[in-house]
Amino acid sequence: MNILYAIVPVLVSNTEFTPFIMVFLNALFDTPGITEAAIRSTFQEVLPRLRVQYNLENWSREAAEDDITKKIILVPGIEYCPYTVHLSPIEGQELAKFISHAIHFGHYEDVISIIRKFTNELDYFSSEDFVPTIIPFLQGLASTLSTDKNGLLANSDYQKLFTYALDSYLGRCIEKEPAPPSDWSRPKISCLNSERWSGYPRSCTTCDDINKFLEDSQRTSFELQTGKDNHRHITSGLLESEVDCAAKSIKPDRFWKIRLDKTTKQYEEAKRKWGAESKAAETHLKAFDQNALKELLGNNYDAIMALKKVRLPSAPVPSASTEALAQPLQSGSANVATHMETPSASTQENVGRNAAMSHGIDPTDDSENEVASKRQRLA
Ligand SMILES: [Zn+2]
Repeated sequence: MNILYAIVPVLVSNTEFTPFIMVFLNALFDTPGITEAAIRSTFQEVLPRLRVQYNLENWSREAAEDDITKKIILVPGIEYCPYTVHLSPIEGQELAKFISHAIHFGHYEDVISIIRKFTNELDYFSSEDFVPTIIPFLQGLASTLSTDKNGLLANSDYQKLFTYALDSYLGRCIEKEPAPPSDWSRPKISCLNSERWSGYPRSCTTCDDINKFLEDSQRTSFELQTGKDNHRHITSGLLESEVDCAAKSIKPDRFWKIRLDKTTKQYEEAKRKWGAESKAAETHLKAFDQNALKELLGNNYDAIMALKKVRLPSAPVPSASTEALAQPLQSGSANVATHMETPSASTQENVGRNAAMSHGIDPTDDSENEVASKRQRLA
């Protein structure tokens, strides 16, 4: 007698352990001595129950990691551990394999029910689950759907899943492209001395002078004669407020001076980081079966492939190069006006919105609203 007959009732009564059940059922295909007919009947027994009890996101875990041995330890009170790792509930390839088997056995309705629940769960998954779980699952699923003869690529539940998941991936895992500073003004520093001595922020005259220079949209350098002891006070203030400005102590004669030069280093670093992140996203998206993805994403395909959600508008904004920034206000009033239109880093929300608008996508409409209303219907 096949041992599966003894195991199936246990599986059926434990379908809330969704990731385990899925991986177990996948493993049957690699187990010698178990026929496809036996696996088919196991799917028939388990799927109707799994469909009801399905949950994946619940099985995400934060675990402690031993810094040296890299051993992962699941213990309660993990938030006090200095080294924690996020454990995704299941590998994306396993989930894709499971859904592919279920479709192969003709469980179309059960699969759609699971797909709807998975779409509903997306907002609750950690952003750390996209790369190990969600993206590889979608890649495998796109390939499965493209080879199915029943026109599943045109099914609106699959289309909503892909549109919402990839839009969420860009929105949650990829930073917005940093905007170049629109002029030479920089954030003010807060006077650390006053705060330390009096318990509340209050500027000293040195910080007042420096803040006047920092706020000025045209001045790029400034020298202040002040005792050497005060230099550390100034550099700490700049560091604390993350001001894009370099400071140098100089002693041209018997008096100490500090020289400040505004820089664009922070912007360049943010731009470099964004470049690496967006390149990784492009690699993930290009790994999909493109014909399947085109059909699943429909009108959203071009915007998602171009990462438009996280890109600055490519509208008629002057070059963002540092050469242009070096003399931002000296090239005629027309140029000044366009420079001022460049969104500043502090209005990232609007940057995204403007970017989406300029490409004909309202980030608040379509897919998100549809999914939101679907959420309500399914709730
Ligand atoms: Zn001060």
